[in-house]
Amino acid sequence: MTILVVADHDRGVLDPTSLQALTAARALDPQVDVLVVGDTGRDVAGELAAHGAATVHVATGVPDYAPQAAARAAVELVGRLSPSAVLATGTPRGNEVLAHVAAILDVPFAAECVEVSLAAPDHQVVRNRWGGSILETAVVHSDLLVASYVAHAVKAEPADGAGTVAEFAPVLSDADTAVRVVDRVGEASAGVGLAEARVIVSGGRGVGGPEGFAPIDELAELLDAAVGCSRVVTSNGWRPHNEQVGQTGTKVAPDLYIACGISGATQHIAGMRTSKTIVAINTDKDAPIMGYAHYAIVGDVSTILPALVAATRAAKE
Ligand SMILES: Cc1cc2nc3c(=O)[nH]c(=O)nc-3n(C[C@H](O)[C@H](O)[C@H](O)COP(=O)(O)OP(=O)(O)OC[C@H]3O[C@@H](n4cnc5c(N)ncnc54)[C@H](O)[C@@H]3O)c2cc1C
Repeated sequence: MTILVVADHDRGVLDPTSLQALTAARALDPQVDVLVVGDTGRDVAGELAAHGAATVHVATGVPDYAPQAAARAAVELVGRLSPSAVLATGTPRGNEVLAHVAAILDVPFAAECVEVSLAAPDHQVVRNRWGGSILETAVVHSDLLVASYVAHAVKAEPADGAGTVAEFAPVLSDADTAVRVVDRVGEASAGVGLAEARVIVSGGRGVGGPEGFAPIDELAELLDAAVGCSRVVTSNGWRPHNEQVGQTGTKVAPDLYIACGISGATQHIAGMRTSKTIVAINTDKDAPIMGYAHYAIVGDVSTILPALVAATRAAKE
């Protein structure tokens, strides 16, 4: 048997959480096949092959992110390899492709899992519900398990050995490529990306407005960090949507997460609770974020942040 992992990449840049899904799959079955979709998938095949995939299958001739076409490629491999499971990390693309896979094969889809045990036809999963505030233990009645892992539920571990890379051109209809990315509009992000940042300085409503992000930007630059924010901040137009952390934003797990004027609503916590060290700055000592913080600073961001910037600058001199 084998497990098929659908890797997520953006124009040849591997989403690092794909290595987490690959690690999780290896723990379930030493034989793991990986699918990368699109010609630019060739750029990430080597990294996946070096990470414990027996074979990395590159589906060529598929447009740059077309979810149904990616699912067709996965279904074609399911037919050929008869895996016990199709797994991915629950990135927006990962979940979308797996939802199509499950729909095409008419099997259930268990999204946002933190644990998976293969036991066909009654697979066991533990998965996040309500934005990660509760864990649900469930049985998935299906010979083939289609499931996504919550990002950062598993730590990516390297593997010995090098797998092979094989290319194939999946059979697609026009309908399979009807939904596809045709253009990307938006600001090119400068600096460190949120998903891979080791340090994140994040602001919430408590910073008071867009100008309140000036010391956050400054601190982030000094710490070589990415800037994040809460949904209130993006909804108010203070910061762009791609900086939102949380259930409906980016899920992050940096070494250090500094939450400035963020209350710690469940939906925000769902996106950052696995951060290794959480520092919260808040005027309210009883704010929910304080319950998750390893270090809490009770105080006004307008005085604490400039002091932190000055101290960091001095320490670097
Ligand atoms: C379906 C759904 C999905 C959602 N998804 C997300 C998501 O992905 N990400 C997300 O963040 N939210 C999400 N939300 C919104 C979430 O419920 C909260 O409304 C939001 O996270 C609150 O943002 P906040 O902490 O910035 O603001 P608030 O909750 O208003 O908190 C502001 C905090 O700042 C503190 N404060 C005020 N002044 C100061 C000061 N001068 N100095 C220091 N501290 C100060 C206050 O004590 C308070 O704790 C979602 C909601 C729903 C319904």
